[in-house]
Amino acid sequence: MFLEKYIMPKMMMDSYRDVTPELLCDLGIKLLICDIDNTLVTYDDPEPTDELRVWFRDMNDAGITVAFVSNNHEERVTKFNESLGYIAHYDSGKPKIGKILETIKSAGATVKTTALLGDQLLTDACAANRAGIYPIIVPPIKDKTNLFFKSKRLIEKPYVKKFKRLHAK
Ligand SMILES: [Mg+2]
Repeated sequence: MFLEKYIMPKMMMDSYRDVTPELLCDLGIKLLICDIDNTLVTYDDPEPTDELRVWFRDMNDAGITVAFVSNNHEERVTKFNESLGYIAHYDSGKPKIGKILETIKSAGATVKTTALLGDQLLTDACAANRAGIYPIIVPPIKDKTNLFFKSKRLIEKPYVKKFKRLHAK
């Protein structure tokens, strides 16, 4: 189906915690572009959790650059990144790819050495596929329950199912 080639991830994990430096190094990934909301923290966490800070540090220790490309607004993204100082873009409009390409350039990476970690097929996986980078999807930590979000999840559902069927071991 038309949508499929744009929104199918290459990898689905249960949590960002399962995305390890070893796993990324095996894939040749040097730049990990992260969505923030519902991928790394809930909408209610203004700053990274302690556990997340350890995960960032482990990534950096392994030579992996972490960056943020978020569709959320300036205040949210700036506050979240304040103590980290990573490359960070707000109002990115994913599935648009402008901020992703900008991040790759400023990090000195290439599309081949970049992955995107997110929680949504229609924005995160789609942007990654359009940019030609490696899409990794995790389930949302705590989803909003309004109709807009519910309908997005409804659209995603058959693709998540199909991914799991294709990759069942
Ligand atoms: Mg998200």
